[in-house]
Formats: sequence, C-alpha cells, structure tokens
Amino acid sequence: MRTYKYQIRETPKNKRIGNLLDDMWQVHEYFHKWQRQRYKDGLSYANYNAMSAHLTAIKKITYPHWQALPSQAIQSELKRIDAAYQQFFKKLGGRPNIKKRHKFKSITFPGHAGWKLKENRLILSFRKWDSGTSKWKFDKVPYTFHKHRGFKRTIRCITIKRDTVGTYWLYVITDASTTDPYSPTGESVGIDFGLETYLTLSNGEKIQSPHYLKQSLKTLRILHKSLSRKVRGSNNWWRCVRQLARVYRHIANQRKDWHWKLVTDLCRRFDTLAVELLNLEGMKRLWGRQVSDLSFGQFVEILKFKCIKHHREFCQVGQWTPTTKPCSDCGSPNHTLSLSDRQWICPECGSHHDRDVNAARNILRAA
Ligand SMILES: [Zn+2]
Repeated sequence: MRTYKYQIRETPKNKRIGNLLDDMWQVHEYFHKWQRQRYKDGLSYANYNAMSAHLTAIKKITYPHWQALPSQAIQSELKRIDAAYQQFFKKLGGRPNIKKRHKFKSITFPGHAGWKLKENRLILSFRKWDSGTSKWKFDKVPYTFHKHRGFKRTIRCITIKRDTVGTYWLYVITDASTTDPYSPTGESVGIDFGLETYLTLSNGEKIQSPHYLKQSLKTLRILHKSLSRKVRGSNNWWRCVRQLARVYRHIANQRKDWHWKLVTDLCRRFDTLAVELLNLEGMKRLWGRQVSDLSFGQFVEILKFKCIKHHREFCQVGQWTPTTKPCSDCGSPNHTLSLSDRQWICPECGSHHDRDVNAARNILRAA
C-alpha cells in the first residue's frame, strides 16, 4: 500500500476536526478504562463485538454527543483498541496505554463513508442535530488541501492527523504499489555507520552528516529559555510551545529530505547494499543523544523501502558479526585495536587500514 500525505489548508473551520479528535479521544479513554475496570471486577475481556454493543447502549443515555461522531471512525478506534489487547494477550506488547488528550492525533475513515475527495477538496460529513425535525442530519464541510501530487489506483481509506504544531494532514492510503527497477550497475557496497563520519562506504568514500539539530541549536536554546520564563499553560506559553514544535518539525523534515536523497543516490549506483543490523539501544548508551540527530533507524527504513522499489538487493549483517577487528585483506583479527585508533597497519599482512573503511569492507564480505 502506498500513502500520500497532503497538508490541509489552515482555516478557522479546522477547529471542527480538532473537536472531532477530542471527542474521539474521549471514546478512546472511555473504552480503555472500561476494559481495565472489567479486569479489576474479574470479568472476562470484552472483544470488538462486545465493545460495539456496549457503545450502542451508552450512546443513548450517558454520552449522547457521541452520536454526532462518524460511526466508521469510532468502529476503527474500537478495532485499534481490540488489536492492542490481542497483541498484549499474545505477549507481543505491553499493556495497552491510554493516550493523553494532546497525544491522540489521528482518526481513520475506513471505506468510503463519511468523506469524499474531489480535486483538491476533502468533504467531511459531520452529523448535526436538527431541532426543527428532531432528527440527525448531515452537515457537509469542505476542506481544501494542498494537492502537490496526484495519487494512483484505488483509495483504501483516509486518515486525518494533527501534528504537534497544530497543522492538519490528510493521508490518502491507496493500494498502488510502485516498482521502478533501476538498470544494473554490477557494483556492490558495504556501509558502515559512524559518529564522526555518517556513512563510510567500502570503496573508501565518506559521507558526512549535515547535523541539522546542531545547526538549529542556537534558535532552540533561545526558545527553550523563553519558554521557561513564561507561565505554564498561558497563551504566551502555548504560542512558544508551538514555535518550538515548528522548529523541531523543520529539523525532522530537513533530515528526512536528506535521507531520501542520499538513499536514492546510493540505490542508483549499487546493485547490492549491505549494512549492519542496528543496535540502537547500545548506540545510545555509547554515544548519547547525538544518535537521535543522526537517526540511523530512519535511514535504514528508507533504504529497505527503496531497495524493494528499485529491485536492489538489501542485506543486513547480524550485530555479532565481527566487523572492526579483522583485517579485510587477510582476515586475521587485530586484538590490540582500541576505540581511538583511526588508522592501523595489519601485523600479519602489513596492509594499511582506515578503521571505518575496513569495517565497511568486512560488512560487505559478511553479507
Ligand atoms: Zn591483514
């Protein structure tokens, strides 16, 4: 499946989507608490159907305003809760969390009910109580989104998300699968990740990270300082929070853009790309929070996706494969090598090695 993301234009009526999200959060919170209470009372787990039935009952008396919510969106929220609990029962995840109101960010409209797409317009139908006829009626509200590219094939569902800055995004999920094979080049490469040089290729090439976080550190420091001087929860404080979120979003966008361009370049040049299996926890322990500025995890995810798309071979070498110490020419390990040695000469065959290039070559060989 392929997802296309568009920005919804900011207008005062976006508040209605916000209210919808807040109401959906209420549903989310209510059902999680209900399941926990049932557990405390010694009752068995209520599955999706039981939750649905319970919803119909409480919609009439306790929460009449939930009748205004799009029913498909509620259903998909209940399915999400059910899926989280099923994962938990299979011991694949921890106890499902109740999200905080501001952390609840997305609603999904499955199928084709409750929304319509027309050119660059999204028409959502909200339900509205009509006191004249004493009936629920549909209130269709159009939203414009920035359609910078078209989407292909059939739409499976749409999702609306609110990010930390307060911008709304439309996600169009289609069943299109694009493959665009690149012509073979006959070249293979091993890639080593590092703190000083971002990537070292087995052909000796070194790629530096632009360190986007570092570039914006001054702005961030000023904003954080100004935030700490404001009264928590005040209007000025919230404005500052959003300003900060905007800077962080910008940094993340810059980094992602750079990752995509870098991966595209690598995929064009090489048939087989080998990387090390990442041990992100260990890296954080060793290198501190700088790792999050480098975000190797995201890089590997993009590389995986692009390799499938362009018919390139992607290999991952297990994290226990020795890559640093063995000499890439004769294979004999250099036990005297310490972390600070950037260059070394193999005691067996006498070849001169750069630490990172040697590791990249070992990764390629192991792959
Ligand atoms: Zn050697």
